[in-house]
Amino acid sequence: MPAIDIHASTTLQSLTGSQTYAHPDGSFSFRREIPAVAGYDLMVAGGGPAGAAAAICAARLGAKVLLVEGTGCMGGMGTSGLVTAFDPMANGERCLVGGFMRELVEAMYARGYMNPGIDPDSWRKKYHCWSPFRAEGLKLMLDEFALAAGVEVRYFTRVIDAEADAASGRVKGLVISNIEGHAYVRAKAFIDATGDAMVAHMVGVPCREAARDTPRIMPATMASLFAGIDWKQIAWPIQQEALRKALADGHFTQYDRHLPGMSPVGWQVGYLNGGHMFNLNALRCRDLSDGAMWGRKLAAEYMEFYRKYVPGCEKIEHVTTASLLGIRESRRILGEYELNIDDYLARREFPDQIAVFNKFVDIHPYDCSVPEWDRFNMEKDKTARLKEGEHFGIPYSILVPQGWANLWVAGRCASSDVMVHGSIRVQPAASMMGQAAGTAAVQSLRTGQSAHSLDTEELVGTLRKANAYLPQKALTSAMTRK
Ligand SMILES: Cc1cc2nc3c(=O)[nH]c(=O)nc-3n(C[C@H](O)[C@H](O)[C@H](O)COP(=O)(O)OP(=O)(O)OC[C@H]3O[C@@H](n4cnc5c(N)ncnc54)[C@H](O)[C@@H]3O)c2cc1C
Repeated sequence: MPAIDIHASTTLQSLTGSQTYAHPDGSFSFRREIPAVAGYDLMVAGGGPAGAAAAICAARLGAKVLLVEGTGCMGGMGTSGLVTAFDPMANGERCLVGGFMRELVEAMYARGYMNPGIDPDSWRKKYHCWSPFRAEGLKLMLDEFALAAGVEVRYFTRVIDAEADAASGRVKGLVISNIEGHAYVRAKAFIDATGDAMVAHMVGVPCREAARDTPRIMPATMASLFAGIDWKQIAWPIQQEALRKALADGHFTQYDRHLPGMSPVGWQVGYLNGGHMFNLNALRCRDLSDGAMWGRKLAAEYMEFYRKYVPGCEKIEHVTTASLLGIRESRRILGEYELNIDDYLARREFPDQIAVFNKFVDIHPYDCSVPEWDRFNMEKDKTARLKEGEHFGIPYSILVPQGWANLWVAGRCASSDVMVHGSIRVQPAASMMGQAAGTAAVQSLRTGQSAHSLDTEELVGTLRKANAYLPQKALTSAMTRK
């Protein structure tokens, strides 16, 4: 195995280029001096719903924040992944999602960035109601919020390595890579919002990985944008009825009964969440590459399906597939607490909860078999679904890797079991976790409290002031642990 030995230098003049060393055992190491950058309070890795919220909210609270994002925009799956609908934010009685996420949706609505003709009660009140939006609108809105808050954004930049002192639970710096080469960035606090727990993994935080720790992996989907749709003709049951006919005709290369479907994101534009790629390991580059090609083939099949079988789609055109593959499950940290299905079913509230949510457990069928289809429907509709007016709590402690002092993890890679992950992996919950992580990091910087011993009563108070809906009556200064 080649070893990479990267030395950071504060002055570019001292750079010495690179050197390789061959070792007697056949391995080799590679050494390069790279510039070091310092002066940040907080560095956020990944600008999806979680990372964008974390960076913007922390900067609004006065922190000097650097956000590093591999693609050219914020929004993650919601923009580069073309997953252009916010999952249910309300429970039929009220909106459960306050704070930054609510502000974002309301601002997008005011700008005309939500699905044209959408009823704002879709996110303010309705039960089990998605809110589709225009991807370009989300990109613009997040750029605007980040610039206004003073976040330093580095697009087209990936975090590729990390240095930490595991004994004291402190990350020291992250190595980034972009068109300028590599650089070592120091900061006082770090948030991993990469979706895949990349930073946590690099510094040695114990994680659960799909495929390694579970017998099955939730399938991936390559989302797409289509144009030329006559939305007046297409109701939800029509898509499902057409699917049954197309499956019976042998239209598809796989007998996939589960079609989340096409949603309107413009007067004649639709976003398709359809076509599953089974057993794809998102932590293997080979799988991601094969998956991208597989996803594009499936998207072409779905375009033909809509054109042939769904009235109103006779003139449909495929605009593009997403540039990020739609990964539902990859790696999650083992946090100070791991939220589990018993908590969900008990509608458990936590003194340190930083969000409440209602979404059903949405674990897509693992294959095309009838038992899997039945399992999926049973969970989604009956055994793992909260009713109208209900919610469960998301505690702060699922954002903190066990024993770590200046590292938080937010979004899809926070600490939960597979079942609860099927609920909280979605954009509104990821955003709320991001806001909580950013707010906690600022509190930690201000008070000297470590991530794992943060005063959670103070954190909840700050989030409430920022309009988060946190209805717990009992508050404690210590976070929820096992
Ligand atoms: C097919 C599909 C359909 C979905 N449908 C919906 C839906 O209808 N509604 C909904 O609300 N949710 C939906 N979801 C879930 C949701 O989109 C994601 O789970 C959510 O976006 C997770 O947010 P996140 O911020 O944790 O991660 P992500 O959105 O994945 O963002 C992570 C970001 O980090 C960046 N990144 C990763 N590694 C690095 C690195 N090393 N350096 C720098 N940057 C890095 C990525 O480029 C990305 O922008 C869907 C997901 C999929 C896959």
